[in-house]
Amino acid sequence: MDCFEEQTMIKFYDGEDLPVELHKVRMVQKLHLRPIDRRLKAIEEAGYNTFLLGTQDIFLDMLTDSGTNAMSDNQVASMLQADDAYAGSQSFVRLIESVKEVFGKKHLLPVHQGRAAENVIAQTFVRPGMIVPMNYHFTTTKAHIDLNGGTVVELLHDDALIIKSDNPFKGNFDLNKLLATIEKYGADKIAFIRLEASTNLIGGQPFSLKNMRDVQAIAKKYGIMTVLDASLIGENAYWIKRREPEYLNVPVAQILLEMCDTCDLVYFSSRKVSSSRGGGICTNDIEIFNKMKELIPLYEGFFTYGGISVREIEAMAIGLRETTDLTVISQSPEFIRYTVEQLDNAGIPVVMPAGGLGCHVDAKSILSHVPQKEYPAGALAAAFYIISGIRGMERGTISSVRDENGNDVLADVELLRLAFPRRVFTLSQVKFLIDRMKWLYHNRELIGGLEFYEEPSVLRFFAGKLKPTSNWAEKLVEKFKSDFGNSL
Ligand SMILES: *Cc1c(COP(=O)(O)O)cnc(C)c1O
Repeated sequence: MDCFEEQTMIKFYDGEDLPVELHKVRMVQKLHLRPIDRRLKAIEEAGYNTFLLGTQDIFLDMLTDSGTNAMSDNQVASMLQADDAYAGSQSFVRLIESVKEVFGKKHLLPVHQGRAAENVIAQTFVRPGMIVPMNYHFTTTKAHIDLNGGTVVELLHDDALIIKSDNPFKGNFDLNKLLATIEKYGADKIAFIRLEASTNLIGGQPFSLKNMRDVQAIAKKYGIMTVLDASLIGENAYWIKRREPEYLNVPVAQILLEMCDTCDLVYFSSRKVSSSRGGGICTNDIEIFNKMKELIPLYEGFFTYGGISVREIEAMAIGLRETTDLTVISQSPEFIRYTVEQLDNAGIPVVMPAGGLGCHVDAKSILSHVPQKEYPAGALAAAFYIISGIRGMERGTISSVRDENGNDVLADVELLRLAFPRRVFTLSQVKFLIDRMKWLYHNRELIGGLEFYEEPSVLRFFAGKLKPTSNWAEKLVEKFKSDFGNSL
């Protein structure tokens, strides 16, 4: 492969280390920074659940990077050549070519989004009593494995949950734990080993290619299938390039191919990986492919669209190729790095080192006065929205479940996640975020807990409603007004 790659590192004369946008804005959307009284009302109406806010009340929407990355001009242009056909669409042929080029897998099943891939994979390979070892779970992944009677076993190194760490690869598998798990249950009880790129729920933390190869070697030895969740593969590849010395001068395109080569099956949400909609499951193993194939027309749609519009299929084909472009995939991780460093300099505990996906603020330590059963991460997400108009997401006990006795299963970490969708925000917006977070940290004693008043039994974080355990939100607003006057 040609080893030339556009570089992205920019040094400053005055020693600053700012991430510079390597794109220009060609279409814009108006944002709404409402007065704080309206924001308080809005979060009350939303049951203190940021998922239930409407964008008319949101300034910077940092809920997720799912379906919110900016599209490129080439992606938008590609949508015009979409080939509308129920079967045999040439748009799908172009997507297959792109998947082959970027992931190195020749058989592709289209699905409407990432979790649909998880449904198909879990239904096909997970049987009651089976084990699925993984570096860490993701919400929808675990739900599908549970639904099919399987059990998730998490095999991160013990230090992966340390908030401030200098371990460059906190998403790595602990190989001894993996071996012990296989010995304990027996290889025939293991449905597959799942490797999640940029481990979402622990702060977008990557694994190294060396670790992927080691997992692959163990899986081969025991005849176990390996499955890569590639939803956040671009960011993981970026951090491999920056942090795994052997890969410093290796183009991202090659890193992506090598990553995918360690796994028998690769699935992805293109809402994340390629700034479009849809998702896919791909493999070079025709037997694996055929086992899943029948479920596609049943749940998704015909084999050549899988519930995705052909326009989005075109955008996906281009978006996947753009994942090999360093100027595209560096933007979000470098903005995250900048934000994390600034907040850390201000003494605010955030997940370190910077990962992909977002900046993760440690609510457990910031709100150490709020008991974990009063959901500190949810409270911090609501408080931050009230004082900034910025919408983040709770990633803590609310995102967890209750046990069979109805008690909360307290999450390993209580994080407020501020996602950085690719090429959406500017540096001055990020500086606003940092400023407001500093103010909130300074006033953290004012923030109290939350309790549910409407609680769904499945994936409760999406639609559950909560209320403050005291009138802390009003007090926070009062303090904001006394410090900022009429300012937004
Ligand atoms: C978002 C995500 C999914 C699910 O994808 P959707 O398109 O939102 O259904 C699966 N795995 C990981 C790691 C994700 O980040």
